[in-house]
Amino acid sequence: MAEPVFAGQPYAGIATFGRAPHRIDPSGADVAILGVPYDSSTSYRAGARFGPRAIREQSLLLWGYNNVQQVAPFRSLELVDCGDVDVVPPDIRATHLQIELAADRILSTDAKLLTLGGDHSISLPLLRAHARKYGPLALVHFDAHPDTWDSEYPNQPYSHGTPFKRAFEEGLIDKSACLQLGIRGPTNGPQDYTDAIDLGCRMITLEEFRGRTIPDVIREMRTTLGTRPTYVSLDIDVVDPAFAPGTGTPEVGGLTSYEILQLIRGLRGVNTIGFDLVEVSPPYDHSGITSILAANLAFEFLSLLVR
Ligand code: MN
Ligand code: MN
Repeated sequence: MAEPVFAGQPYAGIATFGRAPHRIDPSGADVAILGVPYDSSTSYRAGARFGPRAIREQSLLLWGYNNVQQVAPFRSLELVDCGDVDVVPPDIRATHLQIELAADRILSTDAKLLTLGGDHSISLPLLRAHARKYGPLALVHFDAHPDTWDSEYPNQPYSHGTPFKRAFEEGLIDKSACLQLGIRGPTNGPQDYTDAIDLGCRMITLEEFRGRTIPDVIREMRTTLGTRPTYVSLDIDVVDPAFAPGTGTPEVGGLTSYEILQLIRGLRGVNTIGFDLVEVSPPYDHSGITSILAANLAFEFLSLLVR
């Protein structure tokens, strides 16, 4: 009797990212996908723990060829899906340690890492692991929020509002090559932005972005990053909640889906060495609109890695 043939329908079969083989050991692969189903440090609506699975499911809709970047990442890259980090919901330090161990294991091979969150606290251990390998990192941080608060709760240095403050303190980020883009919304006061800017990061608020052209913004990003090893952290709330409602801390007046695609495509040729995509909260999503966007953004990240 013939072996059953997998017909390839997007709704059939087991959902690894893009149907990549599930392998714990990424040795020999170009890119590893890693899920971090952790949302215990969200400050408003939780649910990002369901992000990795939802993004994987919607990734099955992705056709193989990127017509703008003109590459076929699933064919050109050896891609593996390493599954999810074994998180510890009530313990952020233990969870971060698990993330660091998983990231170190992957980065000890030649594979680049694309992580699906999870809330934004997970970027800190990911930045630690990448900085251990590459030194202080150039950073592109897409977000409605600067995430540079000193603490959101008394005596709690780690949460989804503090990862970049800690990363700067730990020397993980190259201050001469750091951009935050899409920042907007009401805050406690002007110091929430000036504190971020004082850390050394170039902040392109949504207000500034709206007054410029996208090619102009892309030119600035490319000039700032140069050839440095660049880590990209994308909080889905940088996109307007009309396009990405499935997130924990929505802010109105954000980027369109198309604008975030354009900005990521503008990183083509930059020395991108790692990515995370965080804060997708499927319980607040509608028709999978947010996780479909997230899957497509991950596809653009992968496309950047096809040199
Ligand atoms: Mn964030
Ligand atoms: Mn945010």
